Amino acid sequence: MSDQQRITVRVPAKINISLAIGPLRADGFHELTTVFQAVDLYDVVTAERAEGISLALQGPEATGLVADDTNLAWRAAALLAEAADRSRIGVALRVSKFIPVAAGLAGGSADAAAALLACDLLWGLGTPRAELDALAARLGSDVTFALHGHTALGTGRGEHLSPISTAAEFHWVLAVAGRGLSTPSVYRELDRQREASGGPADGAAPDRVVAALQAGDCTALADAMGNDLQSAALALAPELARTLEAGVSAGALAGMVAGSGPTCVFLARDRATAQSIARDIQASGTCRFAVAVLGNVAGARPATLPADQ
Ligand code: ATP
Repeated sequence: MSDQQRITVRVPAKINISLAIGPLRADGFHELTTVFQAVDLYDVVTAERAEGISLALQGPEATGLVADDTNLAWRAAALLAEAADRSRIGVALRVSKFIPVAAGLAGGSADAAAALLACDLLWGLGTPRAELDALAARLGSDVTFALHGHTALGTGRGEHLSPISTAAEFHWVLAVAGRGLSTPSVYRELDRQREASGGPADGAAPDRVVAALQAGDCTALADAMGNDLQSAALALAPELARTLEAGVSAGALAGMVAGSGPTCVFLARDRATAQSIARDIQASGTCRFAVAVLGNVAGARPATLPADQ
């Protein structure tokens, strides 16, 4: 056991710069090839010593989320305790939500990753990284990436990661919709569209995205980015077409649906342009809010915060 009484971990949202979806596997998942990038929109998870597991949710994006044992943060703590064979150790978790829920930004996965790391530190377990990664993959396809952050190629369900090194700064705008989209429903719509059209006709090109990232070439990245889930997300939320138009008219190099949506993500030439695009999209009234973010930030990390955060 460590003598730490309280651990705070900050964890980023992710975007998929490229999301290529393969056929449906026998286990019900699709084989993916994706390029993840972590962006500086963070949830904050605090873990304090306690009897049993409990969870409190707060922050501007916590509305509608349930603070029970179905929450991914709680499930992460329970899984780690079980794996460590320490079922009697406890934690009071507090999650401050700034990452919008069901937005395609993997906020739930982020909280799971943060809770794993926070509990590992609080309980002084020193779980080896490979074991934490394996537990993360059991919790969800995007949880391993949330632990690692930065930029990576993901395969399998997205849990097998190879880091991609890039020296350039990437500035994005996230346009967050007024409603969520459920990831399974977007995949179901993709399967329906593919069946109707006689097979996969999508064109996400992860190889070209990897090359553009390694070269630090924003223009090539804008040309290569793509998401096989976009047409399915647009079928379920047709209003997103207006958000995409608003971003491109505001000067984005390119725009697309983020992951399973309904957030839209836009690439900007630089930070100042990203901020002005965010203002213009917000003024267009086509989303709930728009925010400029920086890409390629670290994954879940312990943070030092004032006591009341
Ligand atoms: P996915 O990670 O499945 O692609 P997403 O990024 O679109 O989804 P999330 O915010 O991760 O969306 O939420 C997906 C669902 O997970 C939510 O509808 C919610 O019911 C559930 N969930 C469980 N725990 C959390 C959490 N801590 N934060 C957000 N959602 C959670």
